[in-house]
Amino acid sequence: MARDKSIRITVLGTRGSIPTCGVNYAEFGGNTSCYLVEAGGESILLDAGSGLANAPSEFVRTPTILLSHLHIDHILGLGTYQRLSIPGAKTRLCVPAFDQQGAQEAIDRLYSPPLWPLRLGDYGGDLQIEAMQDVMRIGDVSVETKPGSHPGGCCLIRIRYGQKTLVYATDFEHGDEASARLVEFSRGADLLLYDGQYDGMGYETHRGFGHSTYEEGILVMRRGNVRRLLVVHHDPHSTDQELLARERAVGRPDVQFAREGEAIEI
Ligand SMILES: [Zn+2]
Ligand SMILES: [Zn+2]
Repeated sequence: MARDKSIRITVLGTRGSIPTCGVNYAEFGGNTSCYLVEAGGESILLDAGSGLANAPSEFVRTPTILLSHLHIDHILGLGTYQRLSIPGAKTRLCVPAFDQQGAQEAIDRLYSPPLWPLRLGDYGGDLQIEAMQDVMRIGDVSVETKPGSHPGGCCLIRIRYGQKTLVYATDFEHGDEASARLVEFSRGADLLLYDGQYDGMGYETHRGFGHSTYEEGILVMRRGNVRRLLVVHHDPHSTDQELLARERAVGRPDVQFAREGEAIEI
């Protein structure tokens, strides 16, 4: 449980696109996007990638999953979410407005035979799909969303509790307009989780894929006066060695690459 007035973020999965595993990926981890945010007694899960399998099954209050978008790497963990095996255990699943229509159908398509043995509604747990609001409250925690920059759409999520602010900018491709929007959205934040799937060179061959670089993340951090940057959504081909080399090259204690299993308190 987070200390009073602080926000605690635990990285449950931070790999982009597809899970990976092996000795070369042990330090940063191979599960796809999922972050547990604890504040004011509330538990919020950012995305439901394969890292959701690392989430606890018991929570003090009903947990809320906020989906940035419906891409498969962000919902891959729903089928193995342990809480779904507990009869009657409730979880709210908030889907962005642009994905709301058809969200149930898309999730049912993935989680039903022949692709998966059963539908999520057939589990004992109670998963309630809701539309995400532009501004919403979860207990004393306020949540705000804005459109990001990604094929098919993806939302930027800002979480505020007391004086602390966290911004989640996954699956975000930089660009003049999009980056300016993110700078405003994250102004003064204590922590920015930023899509750094590529480095500058890797990005050149992946323009338009909907992802960014840690270098661009540092620019947003600087322009938005953000205290700390956590680079997330690592490319499935980026080894520990490569990610460590990038982190060392940046050489700043306030810029780190996310490691599965680590917890950060702001
Ligand atoms: Zn993704
Ligand atoms: Zn995506």
